[in-house]
Amino acid sequence: MYDWSEEHQAIIQVMRRFVDEEIRPHLDDLEHNGMPPFDIIRKLYATFGLKEMAQENFKRQLERKISGEEAPRTSRGSDPAAQLISTIELCRVSPGLVTSMGVSTGLAGGTINKLGTPAQMERWGLDLVTFDKVGSWAISEPDSGSDALGGMRTSAKRDGDGYILNGSKTWITNGPYADTIVLYAKLDDGSGEDIRNRKVLTFVLDKGMPGLVQAKPMNKMGQHGSPTGEVFLSDVYVGKDRLLGETEDPKGGGRSSAKDNFVSERAGTAAMALGIIEECCKLAVDYAKTRKQWGTPIGEYQLVQQKLANMEVARVNVRNMVFMHIERSGAGVVPTFAEASAMKLYAAQAACQVADDAIQIFGGNGYIAEYRVEQLCRDARVLRIYAGTDELQIIAIAKDLIRN
Ligand SMILES: Cc1cc2nc3c(=O)[nH]c(=O)nc-3n(C[C@H](O)[C@H](O)[C@H](O)COP(=O)(O)OP(=O)(O)OC[C@H]3O[C@@H](n4cnc5c(N)ncnc54)[C@H](O)[C@@H]3O)c2cc1C
Repeated sequence: MYDWSEEHQAIIQVMRRFVDEEIRPHLDDLEHNGMPPFDIIRKLYATFGLKEMAQENFKRQLERKISGEEAPRTSRGSDPAAQLISTIELCRVSPGLVTSMGVSTGLAGGTINKLGTPAQMERWGLDLVTFDKVGSWAISEPDSGSDALGGMRTSAKRDGDGYILNGSKTWITNGPYADTIVLYAKLDDGSGEDIRNRKVLTFVLDKGMPGLVQAKPMNKMGQHGSPTGEVFLSDVYVGKDRLLGETEDPKGGGRSSAKDNFVSERAGTAAMALGIIEECCKLAVDYAKTRKQWGTPIGEYQLVQQKLANMEVARVNVRNMVFMHIERSGAGVVPTFAEASAMKLYAAQAACQVADDAIQIFGGNGYIAEYRVEQLCRDARVLRIYAGTDELQIIAIAKDLIRN
């Protein structure tokens, strides 16, 4: 694959129409007035039949679970491009909205449908993948981000048939509004096992449960289209029906569920970066052609041209990575941990550099919200932090290369 097919181009065009009609008019409210993105996402689902598609996929997944069939690890046979196209197009205007949507359907819904029993899938998973309900995926804590699993302090103590949860989570996407929270906690079985080595269990919580507090949205640098917040647990009782898979020993262990998500999250981040890069390139080229200084369009000056050229190099590289990922997924090839981390590391840094160059080309206007590049620059920055910081990607790449 070296370009979008005609069918893909048609999807891009309808996505752009949706973005122009349904998102751009609300950008200021999303950015500056605390508007949550959920109604826009639901409209997206309704407009493109995503709800029906999610229901169909869910049905197949449930049937496989009931029959004990192994779930495919890739989208072999289907077209993985369609989902990435929507990520790319939405990220041109609101990467935050994409974060909210991805966390709710992919991380929260995806984890439940992968690890849950059929009853748990029907109880929580379906409503998340159709976006009827909003989900969060809560692993990070105030004292454990990069070291999320080892440093985790949130505890689950056995209590009769269930567990009592205590602790707190932070930077949780959709946290303030989530109807359903997938939450990781360390089993405290009183055996005195070193806390770093204790089992990690995965629970599903509902909004409004006694002892569960979902704090108000945090003020943050960018991605205002995605609410982020803290979650506090004070003696929250959960029955065993809320333990994913209803087992303390899921296949591969609770830690592997979190790690599986890292691979898909990291590849998805490259598509998010591509949307930001494409929009910044387009805006910067248009501006460089029309903005005049000393009577000459600034695009005629070599120092501006150098920035445009570097931006184009990044665009081509990240696009190639995304195309390669689409092609390989379609063929049933799963990226290695090193490959997924390499994509994320490069694409996130490229998006930040491109957005920063775009601001420079826009000069004073680059610093003004109306011209949008400042928003994309602020939004891009978190791509180098969440789903694993740059430094952790470097460590993951090197370790995976050396150990395999
Ligand atoms: C907008 C936003 C949304 C988020 N959404 C979610 C969510 O939905 N769910 C969730 O669970 N989490 C979420 N997070 C949390 C995110 O995953 C963490 O912030 C991230 O993993 C980094 O952890 P930390 O902030 O604790 O940084 P730290 O781990 O404290 O790292 C601080 C610095 O030290 C460096 N560092 C740490 N360890 C090493 C090392 N061994 N070697 C070299 N350098 C190192 C890091 O790279 C970084 O530069 C979100 C964060 C943000 C900002």
